[in-house]
Amino acid sequence: MRILLNGRRGRVGSVLGPGLETAGHTLVDELADAEAMVDFTRPDAVAANLRASVAAGVPCVVGTTGWDTGEFREAPVAVFYAPNFAIGAVLMMRFAAEAARHLEAAEIVELHHAAKLDAPSGTSKLTSELMGGDVTIHSVRLPGLNAHQEVILGAAGQTLSIRHDAISREAYTPGVLLALEKLPTLQPGLTIGLDALL
Ligand code: NAP
Repeated sequence: MRILLNGRRGRVGSVLGPGLETAGHTLVDELADAEAMVDFTRPDAVAANLRASVAAGVPCVVGTTGWDTGEFREAPVAVFYAPNFAIGAVLMMRFAAEAARHLEAAEIVELHHAAKLDAPSGTSKLTSELMGGDVTIHSVRLPGLNAHQEVILGAAGQTLSIRHDAISREAYTPGVLLALEKLPTLQPGLTIGLDALL
């Protein structure tokens, strides 16, 4: 597939670009040449990139977090957004949702590198939603971290911790490849979460 990768020189993009090429995709520089747009940019840049892509009829895969998805709910082409493309994180969210049905209280601790622009993370917000909403989220931003989340559930006499660590940014490539594979089968408009494709 011919792909316009926005954010190609970023922390994620610089790992994802070679990964897409290794998988047989071709990176292009212009929307006019693209069959899909992939966006790993910034919360304040993604909407303009999406508007241009939708106007050109090019379906999109979005990894950028911390933006308002509402505008693209009824987009005339497929817009797929996953706040976390790591399969382990998707499983963490599934397990947390299951555990929340059985244990009475929970809090989420999300920990990221110091340059992350949004807080709380998109993954922690989606996790809270999947657990029924209203789960307290603690955000930690420190050098030395990459992307980590722990969901801690408690009940009388016991706790359960469910933790995911993205140790390197290679963790996201298989999920983006899956989204690109499924993109032609998605309905126009917004689809959220890798879980929808598994
Ligand atoms: P980053 O290192 O700051 O990279 C962002 C890149 O976007 C930079 O190369 C920047 O280029 C480029 N950029 C900025 N504005 C742009 C625009 N208008 N059009 C095209 N490119 C533009 O950030 P990152 O750590 O790679 O993260 C990128 C996003 O992905 C963040 O929102 C992060 O939270 C999210 N993320 C998502 C997942 C997931 O699984 N969904 C995983 C990790 C990160 P310049 O350097 O030239 O400004």
